[in-house]
Order: sequence, then structure tokens, then C-alpha cells
Amino acid sequence: MNAAGDLDAVFRHIDDHADEIVSDLQELCRQPSVSTVHTGIEEMAVLVRRRLERAGLEAEAHPTEGHPIVTGRLAGAGAKTLLFYNHYDVQPPEPIGEWASPPFEARIVDGHVIARGATDNKGNIMSRLAAFEAFLAVRGELPCSIKYIIEGEEEIGSTSLLPFIEANKDLLAADGCIWEDTFREDVPVLSLGNKGLCYLELTCRTANVDFHSSQAQIYENAAWRLTWALASMKGADEKVLVEGFYDDVAPLTEKEEELVRRMKPYDTEARKKKFELRRIALDLSDEELPRRHLTNPSFNIAGLDAGYTGEGVKTIVSGRARAKLDCRLVVDQDPEKIRGCVRRHLDQHGFEDIEVELLFQSLPAKSDPESDVVKACQAASRRACGEEAVINPFGTGSTPTWMIIRHLGIPLVGTGVGFITARTHSANENLKIDHLIEGAKYMAAICEAFGGS
Ligand SMILES: [Zn+2]
Repeated sequence: MNAAGDLDAVFRHIDDHADEIVSDLQELCRQPSVSTVHTGIEEMAVLVRRRLERAGLEAEAHPTEGHPIVTGRLAGAGAKTLLFYNHYDVQPPEPIGEWASPPFEARIVDGHVIARGATDNKGNIMSRLAAFEAFLAVRGELPCSIKYIIEGEEEIGSTSLLPFIEANKDLLAADGCIWEDTFREDVPVLSLGNKGLCYLELTCRTANVDFHSSQAQIYENAAWRLTWALASMKGADEKVLVEGFYDDVAPLTEKEEELVRRMKPYDTEARKKKFELRRIALDLSDEELPRRHLTNPSFNIAGLDAGYTGEGVKTIVSGRARAKLDCRLVVDQDPEKIRGCVRRHLDQHGFEDIEVELLFQSLPAKSDPESDVVKACQAASRRACGEEAVINPFGTGSTPTWMIIRHLGIPLVGTGVGFITARTHSANENLKIDHLIEGAKYMAAICEAFGGS
């Protein structure tokens, strides 16, 4: 039997066992695992470990400072090892009243499994296990060795993940990683990295009270000082004026340039209609938007608070003002360094009194688009979905993929099952059954291509 025929047999096995794959997903969804309120976490970790064992993996649930992390491994035919990542925790199901069926019942409606976690992320777990099981049933082994890491804190910030990765580099060592996400639109999307995040809080205090505004001529107003400081940091042309902010923005490689050029233009008209959007920043064209969005860092005011902001009139001079800034960073910007640049900028512009605190940080990272794991996903997309995958070379969110890319030193692709209509994090989260089955084949094809690369 040739290799192509072999993979067809694996696909057939997945089709023949579609009902079991769906009922296994229902079983995973029926165990609540809401990380925010710690509901069902321990039980879910046990269920996941057992499910990995049933799929033929050697599995373990590791205690952490937070929720247990489940790992699994299975030796395969090829010399290469592929690491898979998922999470077993889910978002809270509230508001319950908005669900058409109970969130942890996993009812099947119109070819969809309706449940909290159906797509995010239990459907993704199931698509991968179904692929592994099909190989074992058809061939007795996988085309490459696999490792699996499934955490329970993704929806609350993955706090235990980095210390676990740092302490278990050998256990997790691999040649490439398949992350969760990016949700599939009409074709698979391959997301090769993530933006960093530098979240700053700026505070200005001019007095320990708000004064009667009849004295505004003689008192400094904290709200004015803070807005003058903010205005000095970014121009109306959207350029960040903080010295050093752009210093570490790495130039794009030729391949990355090509991938950005190939990104589909954004649809401004649709956004204008949907969001009653006045205009796009700088009036950029649809064609210019992907590049602007993917390759530029941002310097955003996420919140402002000072003085009186309630209904009606209150006449005061603000003694305190606060702003929250979130900067999405691109490779190789560093959040600590950005904080330092902002501090220096304020000092140089006469705002030494404004305090700067770094409230949250995560690092940017990207994978080489020419790496074997990316090529394997491209080949798998053609083979299992009959479509050319869309490659997003940088990712748009600030997911913790950098922990794998930087700390394990391996390339990573975020890809998986889940339509844009999957309503993840909302009521009536769902996964289309056909899409789950196609996703299992896609995962099988990734293992096959990666094993043969
Ligand atoms: Zn989520």
C-alpha cells in the first residue's frame, strides 16, 4: 500500500468512527471545567489523562501551583516529534438563560454539538485524539512521535504554564508544535506567532483631594497634566513619539513580506455597517490594513479616569488622574524596555511626577514560515480540506505561544477546528460535527506530512 492510500485508510477509519468521536466529545463537554471559579477542574484533569491513556498515550497529570497540567507521549515511526497543545478549562457558561440547551448537556442540534467548550477547546482535543487513534488502528503506529500538553488555566492567563515548561524541557522537547486556534474560516488558518503585551498604568496625583473648581485658577489639575502627557506620546498621524519605542521592531524577512502581501484585504465597508464605524484610522485602504494590523505595534489608551464622570454637573478640580495603556508589541520589542522608554519620555517632557506601573506583560514571538511544521500544515490543508491554507505570519493576539517558541526553541503553528460561527466564550458555543471529522483528518494529515518531512 502506498503512503497516500494508507492515509486514505486512516481517513476512512475516522469516517467510520464518526459517531464515537462525537460521543467522546460529548463526554468531555459534560464535565464542567470552569477555571475562573475552579469548578470541576480536578475531575476534568483526571478525565483527560484517562482519555489520553485510552488513545494509547503514556499520560500523566502534574500538580502545579494552580491547576494540574496533563501531558502525554507516544513513540511513532519517524525520527521526529510533534508536540500538541490544548487546554481543558472553559469559560463560565453565564448567562445561562441565553442557552438554547443546558451548557454542559452537549445536545446535538442540527449537526452541531452545543456545549460550553465544544470548540474552545474540547473539540480541538477530540480532533487530535481521533487522528492518533485512527493511525494506531490502521497502521499500529503514528508516522511521527507525538507529545501532548493540556493545561487547565488558559482562560485565566496560563499562570502555571511557563514555570512548568521551564521545569520540564526534556519532557516537552520536540521538533515542532501544533497550538490551538486559529479558528478556521472557509480554509485552515495557520498562525505562526503572537503579539506581546505591555500593559501600563499611568497615575498623576496633584493633591490628596478634588478641590472646588472656583479655585481652578490656582491649583494644578491632574486630569490636564495626564492628558498633556498622553498627547506628547502619540501624534494625530498615529506615530508613537516615545523615543526608542520602535527601536527593536525587527524588519520582515522576504518570505514574511510575501505572506503579508498575500493576506486577504480587510472589508472596511462591512465593518462600517456592523459597528457604525466612523472611519478607519488614517483612512487606510482595505489592501493596506492587513500589513498595518499584523506588522505594526500599537500604543493604545485602554482607559482613562479622573474627576467627576457621572450624570449631571459636579464642579471640581481633579486631584488624581489615571490612564491604562496597552501596547501590542511585535518581535523583538520587550515590555520592560518599553516601560523604560515611557518613563524616560515622561521625565524628559516635564512629567517626572507621573507614575508608571507595568501591570501585565507577555512577549512577542514568531515562527519561521519555512519550517517543517508549517510545511506539514500546508500539505495537510491541501490533502484533508482540498484548500490552500491561509498563513498569518505573526498572529494578532497575545496568546502564550511565545512560551513554546522562545523557551522550547521550536517553531509553532496555531491551527485547529472551529468556525467563526462557533460562538466561543458566548452562549450556545457549538462545533459542527462535519467540521470536527474534517478536523480529525486534517490533524492526521499533519502527523503524516510532519513524519515524512
Ligand atoms: Zn477561550
